[in-house]
Amino acid sequence: MGKVTGFKEFDRKTEDYRPVELRIKDYDEIFTGVHEVLHLQEQGARCMDCGVPFCQSDNGCPVDNLIPEWNDLIYHGKWQDALIRLHKTNNFPEFTGRVCPAPCEGSCVLGLNNPAVTIKNIEQAIIDKGFENGWVKPHKVECRTGKKVAVIGSGPAGLTTAEELNKFGHNATVFERAKRIGGLLMYGIPNMKLDKDVIDRRVNLLKKSGVEFITNVDVGKDISVAQLQNDFDAKSDRSHVVL
Ligand code: SF4
Repeated sequence: MGKVTGFKEFDRKTEDYRPVELRIKDYDEIFTGVHEVLHLQEQGARCMDCGVPFCQSDNGCPVDNLIPEWNDLIYHGKWQDALIRLHKTNNFPEFTGRVCPAPCEGSCVLGLNNPAVTIKNIEQAIIDKGFENGWVKPHKVECRTGKKVAVIGSGPAGLTTAEELNKFGHNATVFERAKRIGGLLMYGIPNMKLDKDVIDRRVNLLKKSGVEFITNVDVGKDISVAQLQNDFDAKSDRSHVVL
């Protein structure tokens, strides 16, 4: 726990969005991209490091983010360590930090009688600083298993599946029926909340890590499932992988 009295000393303050006068002139993200360190340290200091951190419970963060741990780390200015913690449970925090409705904040114990900790702002700041500082790099895969896995769909679940398979040394190939990679991220979320460059940046990292992407191919129409089963050792349909 960063500062024992933090929740008593500091009020909740979320980061500002860009001024409306500017936002109506473009389609860029509503976020300023400025993550002021002192401000975020104070916000992290508000975390009480609860014995039962409901923020990361079943009703809180769906990916079980280690929220009190990274709140503490950013209070102490350890941004790179916070990033490592964040990536332990979350493959793509730059997406969730922008678009997640933050059930963690709705579950924050501080919210019982005070405004909740600004968890979402902190998450986005950690990953944005990670990219700014060059800490987010392609995964080096030391040893390949020689197994080929087809992943159908390049939405967030498909990208996560491919990344995890690749980390284990399998050769993952993602099939996407659309022209661009990202599924719901690319075609379902407007730029003002998630800029397309943010998606492309992560996809490029996955490519450099060894994940292959095939676009404009609709599995079931352009290529049969039987063909995939013949060409690959396993296939994933978002919810499970069969090896
Ligand atoms: S519930 Fe709120 S105060 Fe408690 S650990 Fe999580 S973020 Fe911190």
